[in-house]
Amino acid sequence: MDNNEFRENAHQLVDWMADYFEEVENYPVKPDVDPGNILEQLPGEAPQEAESFEKQFNDFQNIIMPGMTHWQSPNFMGYFPANTSFPSVLAEMLTATLGAQCMSWLTSPAATELEEQVMEWLRKAIGLPKVFTGAIQSTASTSTLCALLMAREKITDFTVNESGFPKGETFRIYCSSETHSSIEKDVKIAGFGRQNLRKIQVDENYAMKPDALEKAIRKDLENGFTPTAVVATIGTTGSTAIDPLKEIGEICSRYDIFLHVDAAYAGTALLLPKKRWMNEGIELADSFVFNPHKWMFTNFDCSAFYVQDEALLVRTFEIMPEYLKTPEDQRVKNYRDWGIPLGRRFRALKLWFVLRSFGIEGLQNKIRQHISLAQNLKDQIEQHQHFELLAPVPLNAICFRFHPNYIDDEEKLNELNEKLLNQIQDSGKLFLTHTKLNGKYTIRIVLGNTNLEERHVDEAWKLIQNLAQSLIA
Ligand SMILES: *Cc1c(COP(=O)(O)O)cnc(C)c1O
Repeated sequence: MDNNEFRENAHQLVDWMADYFEEVENYPVKPDVDPGNILEQLPGEAPQEAESFEKQFNDFQNIIMPGMTHWQSPNFMGYFPANTSFPSVLAEMLTATLGAQCMSWLTSPAATELEEQVMEWLRKAIGLPKVFTGAIQSTASTSTLCALLMAREKITDFTVNESGFPKGETFRIYCSSETHSSIEKDVKIAGFGRQNLRKIQVDENYAMKPDALEKAIRKDLENGFTPTAVVATIGTTGSTAIDPLKEIGEICSRYDIFLHVDAAYAGTALLLPKKRWMNEGIELADSFVFNPHKWMFTNFDCSAFYVQDEALLVRTFEIMPEYLKTPEDQRVKNYRDWGIPLGRRFRALKLWFVLRSFGIEGLQNKIRQHISLAQNLKDQIEQHQHFELLAPVPLNAICFRFHPNYIDDEEKLNELNEKLLNQIQDSGKLFLTHTKLNGKYTIRIVLGNTNLEERHVDEAWKLIQNLAQSLIA
């Protein structure tokens, strides 16, 4: 491909992209394919000879597109959203074109300094105290891993980095039973051992019970364990429950335990001053993560990781081989020392474009709209005689189930709701997912897609009711 062909092909793709955004709500949200269907259409070997772009693009349309789940469809209301938006896509085009590897200041001064500034913008926009500084990581999983590694090095005075785990000492990590699975994965990777992750009980709202946390810490101390870190969640993945940060933070301060806050999804709601109560006590936390790549219209990957003790973070990760030394090292941030990989994409650019294109007010309006749509739907579900809510709805995720009032067998209800969810998925008109709360099969509906409008919610609710009706007819 030469530059002229590139220009022509790129123009064609931009048209395709704009058409896609216009049409995406009409696509089946979930593709109608079986495992292996795509693979069997792909040749076993890469081509020996160059193929035309036209042929490649045709295959993209004919083989790949029919196998895609459409996350950007406003009818996608499963998991948590992974939103993109026009400014974010445009920035990614530039990022890919520049192809810069932004591991240190010298390897792209503008990328480093823009990251520094947009992370400050974002910190102020969500009301995080000034003591926090941030860097962009790939995911919340990685950000939390960074936090746990910081905690590990802090409590061992950097011994593990130097000579491995001290003999005879067992470190304990605490989170709630509703915490995201990535915490367990991170505990394994950080070398603490999965058995040393204590999952603390939750209350009737699925939030961590601080007294149970303190009890677990005391018991561990009595038994000779070393309490090391607590992970509190603002917006759990199951039901967006909000752990009581202030009480947890006070316990952590009392026992000198590292506190990490996982607000991967719900952190975006902190853009609204009215939702800042969720973060009350944040000054007691050592680190905080939220994902603009979920609800904040910045396409994957972009995870905002903030820490109070920058020196601890850098000392945990810093390496200085001869070939990476630069004359400016003492005066600049080298973000390679702020996380796990050496290489870094230029992710600040899309965040910059998103923040400027929407403006803080534009972002707030979208978030407010999503929350209000969810609150309306919550009321309708609550008022329906054959549906019930299974958790509070502090934001825009609704946990509910179909519960005809003449069925009370829990197992039957679980089966019925699983069937209902499968029918919803197979309809292609709506994509929802499920969780289990207190053993109950729970359908989740999350209203946070970039281009969500009231009519999509109305249609979704109609479809749910109709499919439920036909299940018992
Ligand atoms: C989605 C989610 C994660 C994982 O996010 P990744 O960026 O995919 O690693 C972690 N914690 C919570 C609460 C989440 O909702």
